[in-house]
Amino acid sequence: MQLEHDLVFGGPAPRRQSIPVDVRWGENVVTVGGGAPVRVQSMTNTDTVDAIGTAIQVKELAQAGSEMVRITVNTPEAAAEVPAIREQLDRMGVDVPLVGDFHYNGHILLNQFPDCAAALSKYRINPGNVGYGAKRDTQYSQMIEAACRYDKPVRIGVNWGSLDQDLLARMMDENAQRPTPWDAKRVMYEALISSAVGSAERAVALGLPANRIILSCKVSDVQDLVAVYTELGRRCDYALHLGLTEAGMGSKGIVASTAALAVLLQRGIGDTIRVSLTPEPGGARTGEVVVAQEILQTMGLRSFTPMVIACPGCGRTTSTVFQELASKIQDYLRAQMPLWRDTYPGVEDMDVAVMGCIVNGPGESKHANIGISLPGSGESPAAPVFIDGEKVKTLRGDRIAEEFQQIVSDYVARRYGRAA
Ligand code: SF4
Repeated sequence: MQLEHDLVFGGPAPRRQSIPVDVRWGENVVTVGGGAPVRVQSMTNTDTVDAIGTAIQVKELAQAGSEMVRITVNTPEAAAEVPAIREQLDRMGVDVPLVGDFHYNGHILLNQFPDCAAALSKYRINPGNVGYGAKRDTQYSQMIEAACRYDKPVRIGVNWGSLDQDLLARMMDENAQRPTPWDAKRVMYEALISSAVGSAERAVALGLPANRIILSCKVSDVQDLVAVYTELGRRCDYALHLGLTEAGMGSKGIVASTAALAVLLQRGIGDTIRVSLTPEPGGARTGEVVVAQEILQTMGLRSFTPMVIACPGCGRTTSTVFQELASKIQDYLRAQMPLWRDTYPGVEDMDVAVMGCIVNGPGESKHANIGISLPGSGESPAAPVFIDGEKVKTLRGDRIAEEFQQIVSDYVARRYGRAA
C-alpha cells in the first residue's frame, strides 16, 4: 500500500529548502538554513550593562552547546558595554557569535554605537516596535542600513505580543469587507506572516541580501505556532528561526516547546531553534540549551551528548540506587562534554542503558553501547554490565555507581579516542 506521506514510517519529511545564512565571529561560521544542521541558540537574562556577568553567562551557554547567544541591547549603557562583552569572551577563548536584541531604539543605538554594531554577529529586529506612523519606515530603514554597512545578518522577528498594530487594524478592516470574513485567528496568522514576509521584502529592497535574512513569527500557543510556521514556510524561502514564545516554567514550558517544535521539525520546517523557558528561581539558564538539544537529539536530527536510556522503575525496583545511578551517569556524561566534544569525536552518539531489573535490563543493555542491569526485588544483588552487546562484568557491593562510571570513562577513551 502506498502511504500518503512518509511521515508515517519514513522519519521526518525532507528539510524545507531555505537560503543559507552565515553568522560569523572570527573563524567561527555558524550557517543557518540551506541544509545546515538545525542550530541551537539561547538568550542571556543578565543585565547587559554588567559586561562581566553577561560574558560569564554567554560562556556558560556556549559551553552547554548554544551555537549563538542573544543579548538584549536596550539602552545606550547596554550598547556601550557590548564591545567589552565581546572582548571578554574573546579573552576567554569563546568565539560564539553574539546576537543583539533590539526593540524601539535599535536604529539609534546601532548608529550611535558603531563598536556595538561591529561587535555583534547578527541583529534581531522586531518590525512591530521599530516606530510608529511616519517614523516606522525611516527607523526600520536605518536598522537595515546598519546591517548592510556592517555586513551583518538580521533576524526579522515578529511576535504576537508586539505585532504591528497598524497592520493588524488594516487587515481587520479588509477582512470586514470580505463577502465571508475570516475568523479572527486566521486574520491574526495572516498579519504575522505578512509582517514577517513584507518586512523581509522591504529589507531586500533596501539592499540587504536574502542570505542575510532569517525570519521568525513567534506566538505562545502550540497550535497557532504550527499553523503560522507551516504557512510561513510555504510562502518564502528565508531561513526560519523557531520558538514558542513565553513557553513558561518547568514541565509546562518543556512540553509545550517540544510539542510545537517537534511537529514543525518533523515537517522539515525550522533552521534554528530557541526554547524560551522561564528558569526556576535559582535555576541555571543553560536549561534551555539542554532542552533544545534533547528535542533535536531524541528526534534523531542531531547528536550532542551521550544519551542515558533508563526504564521508569516499578514495583520490581528495590531501592533508589537505580534512579540515583541513572541521574548520576546522565549528569556525568553531560559534564564531560565540553572536554569530550573535541577529544572524543563521535562520543555524542553513544547510548548508555541504566535499567532497574532483569525483565528488560539485559535486553536493553545489550542494545546500548554500555548497559547495566541493576538487581530488582528478589534478584541476587549483582549488576551485570554489557559492552557492545556482550556481558563483560558483574558489579556487586556498594560502589557499583563509581565502578560503572569508571567503566564508561574507559570505554569512551578506548572507543572514541583519536588513536582509536
Ligand atoms: S526493567 Fe524492570 S524495573 Fe524497570 S520498569 Fe521494567 S520491570 Fe520495572
